[in-house]
Parts: sequence; C-alpha cells; structure tokens
Amino acid sequence: MVSEATTARRLIVDDNAVTGVLAATDRGPAVFATDRVVIATGGIGGLFLHSTNPAGSVGQGLALAARAGAVMADLEFIQFHPTALDSKSYPLKLVSEAVRGEGAILLDENGDRFMANEPGAELAPRDIVARAVWRHMRAGHRVFLDARRAKGLDVARRFPTITAMCREAGVDPVTQPIPIRPAVHYHMGGISVDTRGRTSVAGLWPCGEVTCTGLHGANRLASNSLLEAAVCGGFVAQDVAATASTRRRKPALPDGNVGSDPTSVRPILSRAAGVLRDGEGLRAAARALYPLAVPQHAASDPAIVGLMIVMAALRRQESRGAHARTDFPDRAHLARHSTLCLTDALETPHMADRTFVSPARGRLPKQAA
Ligand SMILES: Cc1cc2nc3c(=O)[nH]c(=O)nc-3n(C[C@H](O)[C@H](O)[C@H](O)COP(=O)(O)OP(=O)(O)OC[C@H]3O[C@@H](n4cnc5c(N)ncnc54)[C@H](O)[C@@H]3O)c2cc1C
Repeated sequence: MVSEATTARRLIVDDNAVTGVLAATDRGPAVFATDRVVIATGGIGGLFLHSTNPAGSVGQGLALAARAGAVMADLEFIQFHPTALDSKSYPLKLVSEAVRGEGAILLDENGDRFMANEPGAELAPRDIVARAVWRHMRAGHRVFLDARRAKGLDVARRFPTITAMCREAGVDPVTQPIPIRPAVHYHMGGISVDTRGRTSVAGLWPCGEVTCTGLHGANRLASNSLLEAAVCGGFVAQDVAATASTRRRKPALPDGNVGSDPTSVRPILSRAAGVLRDGEGLRAAARALYPLAVPQHAASDPAIVGLMIVMAALRRQESRGAHARTDFPDRAHLARHSTLCLTDALETPHMADRTFVSPARGRLPKQAA
C-alpha cells in the first residue's frame, strides 16, 4: 500500500522494538502497525538560514529515530558548500565547483583575490574554500565568483543552467561577478548504523542522507552521496527482506502533537553551528534550544535535532573535516566517530559549562559501533 501526502510524526516503540508509525494524513492522524520501518527523510539544511536543501529538510527522520531511542553518530559534521548564489531565495541555488574548475576566481568588492595564497586557491576542498569565504565575509566583505576572469570560458555556453539561474536572480555572469556565500549542503552525520544498515532499535533502518554509515567521514567528497544512498539502500533492502516479521503487536498510541516549525531554530543553529564554531557559541545555543525542545513547543522536533547537533559539536574538541572549532583549531591525534542519544542531549545543556570545559569528560565521545 502507498499512502501519499502522509507525514511520519512518531515511531511507536515497545521494549526497544518498532511496533508502528503515527502519521499525519490529509484525513487526519493515522497509525500504521508494523515491526519494520525504513527512514529515508533526507538532510537537515532547512534547520539553517542559508542552505541549498529544500526548506522542508529539517531532519525529521533524526527526530523520529532519536525519540525512539536510536543512537546518532557524527552529527557535528555538516558540509557547507562554499559557493551558493547569495540571494533572498530559499533554498539558495548552487554555483557548482565546475565553474571554479574552468578558471573562475573568488574576489571581494575591492577586487581582492583573497584566496590567492591558500594552497589550491579556489580549487581547494569545499571545507577550506567555505572557511576562507566565511572569514572574509565576517571581516565585512562581500564575496563574488568572477567567471569573466576565466580565460577562454564562454560561461553562457558552458554553463547554461547556472547562467539562467543567475540571470533570474538579476546577475549576468557574462558581464558581472556572481555574489556567493557558504550554505549548508550535506549532513555527514545521522542515524548510526551497522554494516547491515541496522540501527540500535530493532526493526528500524535508515538510508540516504539521514544515515551515518561513516562512509563520508568528516568531509564528504562531491557527487558521491547518491551513490552511497543507492548502494547502502540496497544493503538495507536486503536486510529488511531477510528479517522475518513477527506477529504485529497493537501499538500503544504516543502523543503525536509535537511541533515541526524550524523558524526559531534557524538563527540559533546558524550562529553557533556554522562554518566556524566555538565553545561559547555552542553552549549559548544549547541553552537557547533547550526550552524549545519540550513536546508542546512549535519548534520541538527541529529543536531536539538542533540540540543534538550542538551537543555533538561541543563534545568534539578538535577541528576535523567540516567541523572547525576556533577554540580547538588542531586535529586530534586519533580519528574517532562520535555517538549521542537524545537523552544525552536533553540531560546536558544546563550543565554545559561544567561538563564540556572539563577535559576528563569533554574530550571525545565514545567510539561508534
Ligand atoms: C542542490 C543540490 C545538489 C546536489 N548535487 C548532488 C550531486 O551532484 N551528487 C550527489 O551525489 N549528491 C548531490 N546532492 C546531495 C543529494 O542530492 C542528497 O544527499 C540526496 O538527494 C538525499 O537523498 P535522500 O533520499 O536521503 O533524501 P531526499 O531526496 O531529501 O528525500 C527525502 C524525502 O523524505 C520526505 N520526508 C521528510 N520527512 C518526512 C516525514 N516525516 N514523513 C514522510 N516523508 C518525509 C521528504 O519530503 C522527501 O521527499 C545534492 C544536494 C543538493 C541540495
């Protein structure tokens, strides 16, 4: 059976095993009794003010799984695309790396090529370019991608879609530099899985961007998330098919009345969990998100996801891949995954200052499975 226009609101769990899904349909709430659920709800960009993801990508699958008790992994690793077209639209449109590949360069409003002395310059990896652009913006500059300076590039012919998209936003890349900014693009972290795609909750599998398989590490390379989703989704399909359905229990009804409005969460997360993070900002965000995370609040689900991201970022006291801490700029000797449950995130914000300054507890979280 396919149920269209249906939004999963809650997983119903009994004794750490899925027994059903509570959903909102256009005919009102509905309960689906099942002992096998696959979550494929995509990323989290919609929790930020600037993202290339659809506004509805607010990590609802993370909230569903976290409320069911599932373990999350590497939530702090969020990829920022360095060159989203800076406009008022949501989501922001992408000006792909290929334009830099053809020779376009990054300039500020004074024509200063501020990346010229960085290793790799404009062709450095996404995280390095995103940090350089963000630092320059924080210093009060506007940043542009100038395709006019690429020798021999006929931008309108080589990139017709990007040219049309820019012109729609009032910028002609043939005659003008393109205003750009970093934007949340992809979540490397997600629901933790084993090699069969299973979570810590019996009968629950995730696939696609909502999952943390570990395959993308701390810093996904471009163009491989669809491949991962297809390959790992295949493992999940095999495992679901090989898992016998036990006699379905009548699910106990949870309270499905939880908020999903990300509006109040976006500025908090954007400020604290952006391209550059620090302990003070992350602790302030945890304190601001905590009161929004109560079930009655309109932002409840986005707030718990934001809180888990912030707590994971606080715990990782190093800079690695897409996670850059100005107060911990070095990479730790040992690369480790991080894991976190919703209960950890809900218990700790009020103790954030004490808990995360202490090196004994605050260093790095335990190894993921
Ligand atoms: C602009 C852009 C360009 C990209 N380019 C590339 C590329 O070139 N190569 C590459 O590999 N990757 C690329 N990516 C990344 C890739 O597109 C995503 O990682 C991938 O599409 C995620 O797929 P998914 O199936 O996990 O989630 P999605 O495709 O986001 O699908 C999630 C679905 O779940 C639904 N949903 C959410 N919550 C609920 C709920 N509670 N109940 C019911 N349904 C729900 C949503 O409505 C949506 O239909 C790009 C991403 C963006 C934004």
